Amino acid sequence: MKTLDQIAAELQGYDPQALRAPAVNDFLSALVEPVADTETVGVFQALDRVLAADVVSPISVPPHDNSAMDGYALASADLATDRPTVLTAVGTAYAGTAWNGPVAAGQCVKIMTGAIMPAGLDTVVPVEFVQVEQDRVSVPPGVVRAGDNRRLLGEDLMQGQPALRRGDRLGPAALGLIASLGLATVSVYRRLKVAYFSTGDEILSLGEAPREGAVYDSNRYTVFGLLTRLGVEVIDLGVVQDEPAALEAAFRQAAAQADAIITSGGVSMGEADHTKAMMRQLGDVAFWRIAMRPGRPMAVGRLSQGHHPAVLFGLPGNPVAVMVTFLAFVRPALLQMMGARTPAPPLLKAHSLEALRKKPGRTEYQRGVVSTGPDGRLQVRTTGNQGSGVLRSMAEANGLIVLHHQQGHVAPGDEVDVMVFDGVI
Ligand code: AMP
Ligand code: MG
Repeated sequence: MKTLDQIAAELQGYDPQALRAPAVNDFLSALVEPVADTETVGVFQALDRVLAADVVSPISVPPHDNSAMDGYALASADLATDRPTVLTAVGTAYAGTAWNGPVAAGQCVKIMTGAIMPAGLDTVVPVEFVQVEQDRVSVPPGVVRAGDNRRLLGEDLMQGQPALRRGDRLGPAALGLIASLGLATVSVYRRLKVAYFSTGDEILSLGEAPREGAVYDSNRYTVFGLLTRLGVEVIDLGVVQDEPAALEAAFRQAAAQADAIITSGGVSMGEADHTKAMMRQLGDVAFWRIAMRPGRPMAVGRLSQGHHPAVLFGLPGNPVAVMVTFLAFVRPALLQMMGARTPAPPLLKAHSLEALRKKPGRTEYQRGVVSTGPDGRLQVRTTGNQGSGVLRSMAEANGLIVLHHQQGHVAPGDEVDVMVFDGVI
């Protein structure tokens, strides 16, 4: 395990006082390690978990050639191209009950969707295309070509092929796929444990009476939501006063139980508080100023409490900065710790409906409302006031406009990158 200094030394252009957003991701990616422990869970329990081993298909799916339609299975060699083909139906193939009788030239078999294709027959003509009189089936010319409406053995998946890969996060389709292979359980990484608390003397817990200069804690609630959506086990350590004994107890408790610790508040430059001092005292921690907005101050490192060290993410206090730094930096790092292979959510291109002021030299994340425009393309507007304490506008947004480090002002109609929340938070 590399120390923070070693990681920093290997990074191009590492400047803790003006760190670029992509360098933060690179640093964190070198800092964190995937959990090692795995467990076997049932398919219903596997939703949102990360696969710890490839799922290799024990069967071919489908296991036989079968019909994609209700109709008549026939041999394409029998089809005339210039006049109706009249065939004799000799039996019926049901889904679940095959037709195993002989089929000669000029004969066909009535077949239901999903039924196994009778031997020697390669094509299904849908029932709505034919005229049937007793056992005589007349197929007009040109309504089917050889192989139509037949699903091939192994078309979805061949026996022995990996159906899913280690590191895949299992969504609804993956659950269905696992079940379709007849597998009742899968091997997944154990759930990541993440402890979090809010710091600051001015922070009130719900239920406390309001007092001058104090604000209700919102960060614990957004962090709870963000972490829960990620599928980690959350450990809520409450609001911790800016007092050495309380902070030390909270950090020690967090480090003893969790793989990662997320705090908010107390890491900005002007802070006259004990949070940074305690982080420094208990672990290997770097304090950064990130070239970004909102955000800027952040502490990262490792805190050890007698076992494998916990990764510390010391986020700024501002409610919007917490969410933005979580999405930009913490979330990809946690996914990596969860063992997931593809952490970065895709950035989509949308047309800005407004002019956006942007200074080159920092990455800006503006709260945006993304929609489909009249031309069918994505468009985005901002939620207005981008003050980093304005949580209302975060709640109104359905994505973040990401204005990259070197980017300058944006004119109306310009394309910008957006990170859409759907599926992310
Ligand atoms: P700090 O990073 O500690 O300087 O905090 C920056 C701003 O965020 C201050 O206005 C704090 O009052 C506010 N803040 C810090 N923590 C929280 C929290 N848990 N909930 C709501 N606001 C907070
Ligand atoms: Mg503070």
